[in-house]
Order: sequence, then C-alpha cells, then structure tokens
Amino acid sequence: MLETLEVKTQTGSYPIIIQEGLLVNDNSPVPQKPANVGRWVVITDENLANLYPEVIENLVTSKKDIIILPPGEETKTLGQVEEVLEILADLKLNRWDGLMAFGGGVVGDFTGFCASIYMRGIAWIQIPTTLLAQVDSSVGGKTGVNLKSGKNLAGTFYPPQAVWIDPLLLNTLPDREFWGGCSEVVKYALIQGDGFHRWLVEHWEAVVAKEPETIGQLIGKCIACKRDIVVKDEKEAGLRKILNLGHTAGHAIEKLTDYRVTHGAALRQGMLFELELAFKMELIDESQYRQLANLVHMIPVIEEIPGFSLEDMVLAMALDKKNRKNNISFLLPHQSGSIEEVGLTGEELLRIMKKC
Ligand code: ADP
Ligand code: ZN
Repeated sequence: MLETLEVKTQTGSYPIIIQEGLLVNDNSPVPQKPANVGRWVVITDENLANLYPEVIENLVTSKKDIIILPPGEETKTLGQVEEVLEILADLKLNRWDGLMAFGGGVVGDFTGFCASIYMRGIAWIQIPTTLLAQVDSSVGGKTGVNLKSGKNLAGTFYPPQAVWIDPLLLNTLPDREFWGGCSEVVKYALIQGDGFHRWLVEHWEAVVAKEPETIGQLIGKCIACKRDIVVKDEKEAGLRKILNLGHTAGHAIEKLTDYRVTHGAALRQGMLFELELAFKMELIDESQYRQLANLVHMIPVIEEIPGFSLEDMVLAMALDKKNRKNNISFLLPHQSGSIEEVGLTGEELLRIMKKC
C-alpha cells in the first residue's frame, strides 16, 4: 500500500508518503529526497539509534552526519538547541543542506525548530516513528521546545519539505506509546463522525494486532482529517481549535499528574470528562453519549491515573492557554455532528458536572 497525501501551506506544499516497509524493508529504495538539497544530517534519539542503526545510516552519506539526542521531553530545551546548532556549524552544514528528524514528537519538534532557525531556515524532512507523531505532528508545521515556564512555549510554524511514514516502525513501539497514540486516533474519529467512527469499530481487531495495512489506512485517515482542518486555518485562528477536543481536560490531567502520564493517557481521560460535560449540557443525547464514550473505552487503560476531585480539575483548567477572560474553553461534540466551542466559568462548570 502506498498512499501520498499532499499538504498545502502558505509557502507551498509537501507530500506525506505512507507505506509499509518504506524505510524498514531492506528492499525498498529510500524515498525520493527533494533534489535541491545537498547534504542531509539526521537527528534521532538513543532508543531509535539502537533499534534502527541501518535505517538511519541509509539516510546519510557519512556516519558523522548523525546526531543522537537523549530520549524524552527533557531534550526539548533551548540549551540543547544551542548545542545542536553548534554541531551543525562544526559539520559545516550550509543553507542548501537539510535535517531529517527520525523519531517521535520530541525529535520532530526539536529538529523542526533547529531547521527553522539554523542560518535563518534550512530544509527538513520528518520521519515520525511513534503513532502519535505519525497521526498528529506530521501535519501543521508546529515546531518548538519547552521553557521552564511551560511546554512548547518557544517555537515556530515551519512545515517540512516531506513526511515519510512507515507503519512497520511501530512494531518496536512500547505499548504505552502505542495506546497513547490511539487516543489521538479516537479523537479524530470523534471529530469526523460517522464514517471514520464505523470504520474504526469494524477494524479495531486489526488495529490492536498492529496489522500494517490497517495501521497505514488509519494513519492516512487521521492525517487527511487534520490536513483538511489545518489547510483552512494554518495559524490557529479559529477552525483549528476543534483539534483540541478532549484536550482542555486532558491538559489539566497532565498538569495534575506533573506530566508523569503520557499525553495520550491523559487525553483518553480528558475525552471522557468532556463527553460527560457535553451530555450534561444537553449538546448530545444519551445514546450519542454512550456511542462516543464506547469508542474511547475501546482504548485499554495502560497507565493508572489517580482520581482528581472536580475542584482540582477546574483549578487546573483555569490555567489553560485557550481561555479568554475568566472562561474555560471547551471544544465539545454537538448532536448535529459539528464541534462547538463553549466557554464556561469555573462555577458554571462545577454546577453542570455535579448534575446527576
Ligand atoms: P511522542 O511525543 O511522539 O509521544 P517521544 O518522542 O517522546 O514521542 O517518544 C516516546 C518514546 O518512544 C521515546 O523514548 C522514544 O525513544 C521511543 N520511540 C519512538 N519511536 C519508537 C519506535 N518506533 N520504537 C521504539 N521506541 C520508540
Ligand atoms: Zn494531543
């Protein structure tokens, strides 16, 4: 199966190529690189460098053009960016060369950010290796690192020249990362409604078995959904907000657990919270509520999340960056099939959620 999706941006367009064996299979040629770029440097993390040494070496002409970062969110700092930029300068990388990000969201955000500022911007290719990064961060062109004050507070919009996705890379992904990515997949099904929803239920067994053909189709569906939203709203003025379904409560859970749970596990819980809110606000009826919540319940619970009081949740949500004035902003499903933005004060939220 080979699927190519074209993503339009304000500065042009780039292809997302999805194919099983695209990189992992020895017999497949490395995908066509943009012809106008000279030399490529790969940025990856230690886990991936250990798991896929040949794949990574195939991407570069010389082993010295591979930069290996420590895995994990702690890598996304401005200090680490400075170190890598110095390495690029030592390697004499110039404006006509490029970077390849081989890794999950951390490597992708970090590499894209470096590419966007090195010599005022050089080419980059994203090769996402987690389900989360494949379905979510390969569209939208967001790059960035964390500040001490918060996650992703320094960054740029800088789309890559190409995205290469090989579902076979997921065979080595730890379960917790796989199911974390599935939360984001279910979010797309909630946003897109009926068609995708039914497909996901019908193909769930094959998804659980990580059947590559099905996983490839699944990734394609999520990317197409996100692309159609992002193309209309590249800089997050309005429509793109609907991608935040489940995320207001999800981010609150991440904060309350001090980021000890994965984004996906928090999102799973966050979607359940927000579906209950939509039901209690009578935006959806009981049968719709059950149908949507059942979809979320298909994702197994891999990480235990402590039960937080409603009051704690409300306090944490009051800090969300989407909030305007004193209102907490939610993107909730509506019975018409659309996603609606709702603003509630903390007191209103408490009153509604306490309804039986
Ligand atoms: P994301 O932000 O996409 O969830 P990260 O970049 O934080 O992911 O990666 C999560 C963890 O999974 C990291 O420890 C990373 O090294 C590891 N990882 C990423 N891709 C793979 C893979 N294909 N196989 C095994 N481990 C992987
Ligand atoms: Zn998310």
